[in-house]
Amino acid sequence: MPRHFDALILGAGAAGLFCAIEAGKRGRRVAILERAERIGKKILISGGGRCNFTNIHCTPDNFLSADPHFAKSALARYTPADFIALVQSHRIPFHEKMLGQLFCDRSAAEITGMLEEECRAAQVQIFCNTKIRKVSRAGEFIVETEEQEFRAPALVVATGGLSIPKMGATSCGYDLARQFGLKIVSPRPALVPLVFHAGDCKRYSELAGVSVEVIASFGKEKFRENMLFTHRGLSGPAILQISSYWREGQPIRIDLAPGLDATAPVREAKTRSEAAARAAFQKFLPKRLATRWLDFHTPASWTNPALAALEEQVHGWPIAPAGTEGYEKAEVTAGGVDTRELSSKTMESRKIPGLFFIGEVVDVTGHLGGFNFQWAWASAAAAGRAL
Ligand SMILES: Cc1cc2nc3c(=O)[nH]c(=O)nc-3n(C[C@H](O)[C@H](O)[C@H](O)COP(=O)(O)OP(=O)(O)OC[C@H]3O[C@@H](n4cnc5c(N)ncnc54)[C@H](O)[C@@H]3O)c2cc1C
Repeated sequence: MPRHFDALILGAGAAGLFCAIEAGKRGRRVAILERAERIGKKILISGGGRCNFTNIHCTPDNFLSADPHFAKSALARYTPADFIALVQSHRIPFHEKMLGQLFCDRSAAEITGMLEEECRAAQVQIFCNTKIRKVSRAGEFIVETEEQEFRAPALVVATGGLSIPKMGATSCGYDLARQFGLKIVSPRPALVPLVFHAGDCKRYSELAGVSVEVIASFGKEKFRENMLFTHRGLSGPAILQISSYWREGQPIRIDLAPGLDATAPVREAKTRSEAAARAAFQKFLPKRLATRWLDFHTPASWTNPALAALEEQVHGWPIAPAGTEGYEKAEVTAGGVDTRELSSKTMESRKIPGLFFIGEVVDVTGHLGGFNFQWAWASAAAAGRAL
């Protein structure tokens, strides 16, 4: 016997759970079908176990999408203040770490606990360990799982992206979009460490563990945050941020001395020399990095034009990565269901009434710092209010 609901939601991650709560509160009979053995697995590991659940400075500029206007409506109608109010109503203590990023004081499990409690109050039924075999549409949506059949006039796809496959990420959302004739913007790993080419790897891998504040840029996008050398390339917030914009074959640029006249002490030194340059660079860079970087960038002479060229290099060090660390290490997946296919007010497909896509599966990707969860909550609220 098929089980009938008003709405079926695929995926019990941030977006799926929140959408179910919004719809359930409005009296809809909602079922969430989740492949994993438990809900909200990514929430639990997020923010180093403390879940950076939103960002108080959230604006549409914090998101990448083929259509930069798409996210505006949902973000305006469900704001960080709305989510903060919910967290406060559950008496979950939190703090601002930096740059508007809000983290739980204790544990991300308090956010999943809160969502679970809200689901219970809204009488949402959650089916874990549920493997979907087939989705079809015959008047209503029919979801066949290994054990049973579910039917509803509305289907919400909240299956996330491809990041962290070992946690059970699947291409299910993209496959369903294609099945129903919706276009996809090619998915790619984002918020992901970058990998050096062999030459740079030889030059800089011994700096693994060194961290420094830089401005990482690609085109007109710039992020002033920390950069970390790894054994294979570059990571740290500045690199994760710029990785979302980086396109293969092109260099990113690193300003190793933001706002500084790095070569001034050399120009003014009694004797312009390599030793003077090292001493100057060690003032603003970790010693190992200053030494290694100058090993490969010491100018042939110490003339004013040569120092000007060095100054330029230090503010725009080009690095052409060989690639990224891939979905295994990517915090999110950029690309996804083409926003031109969806209503920005409700996240419903323009072609297939009753079919919704929310959260990371949509071509809206946030910067690092709580923006991806804010998109999950906001897109889920938009759909949940329309169910
Ligand atoms: C290590 C890590 C740390 C992060 N930290 C932060 C942070 O602190 N702040 C922030 O804003 N963002 C963070 N993110 C990003 C954030 O977790 C995601 O953007 C967010 O979880 C997306 O929510 P979602 O509900 O769209 O997808 P998900 O949370 O990925 O949920 C999708 C759900 O669908 C289920 N599913 C998949 N396929 C199927 C299927 N075929 N059938 C049924 N169910 C299926 C999955 O098991 C999963 O439960 C982090 C990501 C990672 C990987």
